[in-house]
Amino acid sequence: MTNINSNNHKKSKALKPGSRRPAKELCSECGLCDTYYIHYVKEACAFITQRIEELEVNTHQRCRDLDKENELYFGVHQEMMAARKQVPIVGAQWTGIVSTIAIEMLNRGLVEGVVCVQNSQEDRFQPMPTIARTPEAILAAKVNKPTLSPNLSVLEEIERSGMKKLLVIGVGCQIQALRTVEKQLGLEKLYVLGTPCVDNVTRAGLQKFLETTSRSPGTVVSYEFMQDFRVHFKHEDGSEEKVPFFGLKTNILKDIFAPSCMSCFDYVNSLADLVVGYMGAPYPWQWIVVRNDTGKQMLDLVKEQLEIQPVMSQGNRQPAVQQGIKAYDDAVTLPMWVAQLMGIVIDRIGPKGLEYGKFSIDSHFARNYLYVKRHHPQKLEAHVPEFAKRIVAQYDLPEVD
Ligand code: FAD
Ligand code: SF4
Ligand code: SF4
Repeated sequence: MTNINSNNHKKSKALKPGSRRPAKELCSECGLCDTYYIHYVKEACAFITQRIEELEVNTHQRCRDLDKENELYFGVHQEMMAARKQVPIVGAQWTGIVSTIAIEMLNRGLVEGVVCVQNSQEDRFQPMPTIARTPEAILAAKVNKPTLSPNLSVLEEIERSGMKKLLVIGVGCQIQALRTVEKQLGLEKLYVLGTPCVDNVTRAGLQKFLETTSRSPGTVVSYEFMQDFRVHFKHEDGSEEKVPFFGLKTNILKDIFAPSCMSCFDYVNSLADLVVGYMGAPYPWQWIVVRNDTGKQMLDLVKEQLEIQPVMSQGNRQPAVQQGIKAYDDAVTLPMWVAQLMGIVIDRIGPKGLEYGKFSIDSHFARNYLYVKRHHPQKLEAHVPEFAKRIVAQYDLPEVD
């Protein structure tokens, strides 16, 4: 690698699009290696060096308390709540809390730009990372692009622009790399607004998922794996389609998730200042995790635009998780009518609120732990954070051959 010392930090030559990344097949295309910040890839890449616990201390001045169940699962936090916008943003993924916070921060001069991801003109799911400098540009980034997105590819532009106050919106793997190079960006203040993230796919993988699962793949505008154990697809004509998780063609879909996402243990975006998702709240509320004072400051800007209620927790996830581990490993696919029925029963008696969030974390961590053990056994010990090891240890996992 070429080291060029200027602007007080080291730079290396960015990789060409499509070339093999340092994390090889585990690369989540976070965008760092598209910039001269690739110089820091060994420490920054979530798949080369897993550093969540160390970076938690840098960011929040402490790491999560593993003996408190909510911290073990959801990371360092001051408070959690369920919330929704009184007037939702039409076309947002949920009610648009993320876009609203970003717009307020820009309008009030807290930041000069917002890193977010729009889509290309031709394809609503093709991610196009950008530094938004107007509310319109932030709104144009609303709704999930449910594909790997190189959000950090704009890092060089940040430095060139001379911006001093910036908000970055992103998912866990992007934020781990960002936190590692944060000090090199020349900023006075960085704000990080995260979303949880799991089961992400390449653009080709997304196509396969849509074609295998939806009745009309070409008209899907967004979808979500919901707390009622169904995938909800929204279509162009405003109609909604619901497909039970238990009816998904697991045997076909097993390979669509990106290897990075099958090896990821930062579902809850541990290093963001503020996290906005849905899985810890009862449907149709969003779920907010305030990790530190910066996150509180960000949330306070929009509180009067929100309806807020305390988080709740109900049910017992563990038997369902244990059964799911086995079903997934055996790649069971139920007939659709049985799946519909199971979906309804589980929705009535199944885990809700924080317990649903823990159900989802348990299920994904167990699956990912087995994936790393099978495909990258030499990485298992260092790559899986201590909190994930504790979570997975609650279950009987199948032997790995
Ligand atoms: P909006 O106001 O619609 O804004 C969405 C923001 O997300 C935009 O600013 C955009 O820049 C950003 N964004 C879109 N796609 C990407 C991407 N690929 N990478 C980085 N940033 C992106 N929440 C859960 O609770 N559980 C989950 O399992 C879960 N899985 C997710 C998987 C993915 C791939 C993504 C992107 C998000 C996931 N979320 C999950 C978060 C959730 O779906 C919503 O994004 C969140 O609740 C915010 O909704 P909103 O209406 O406030 O967002
Ligand atoms: Fe580089 Fe990001 Fe891929 Fe790691 S995940 S190799 S930092 S682009
Ligand atoms: Fe990144 Fe993890 Fe989301 Fe995959 S699941 S895109 S690795 S945060």
